[in-house]
Amino acid sequence: MGVEPALIRMLRAGRDEGRDLEEALDHLARVFGRPASAGRLGTHVTCYEANVIAYVLAASRHLDAAVVWLDEHAATDTEEDLHGRPGFDAARYITGR
Ligand SMILES: [Zn+2]
Repeated sequence: MGVEPALIRMLRAGRDEGRDLEEALDHLARVFGRPASAGRLGTHVTCYEANVIAYVLAASRHLDAAVVWLDEHAATDTEEDLHGRPGFDAARYITGR
């Protein structure tokens, strides 16, 4: 993927819209990266929906929040689900390392 997402371009541009967006993403990360909130909400979304939220968090430099979010979501996944295999590691899943 050679094209930067518009979200990242806006953040790097440093415009007011970028600052507003960055502040909004910080708030999003505080909510979805809080274990209690992630545990309560994450179990009610599909794996795809969980991945989309994790992608937004990670792309906006909130990797820790993305890991918490995905770990809490995965807690109720079964082995048939995307994040349900034994020993699932959200950090490795997100970063590929
Ligand atoms: Zn899942």
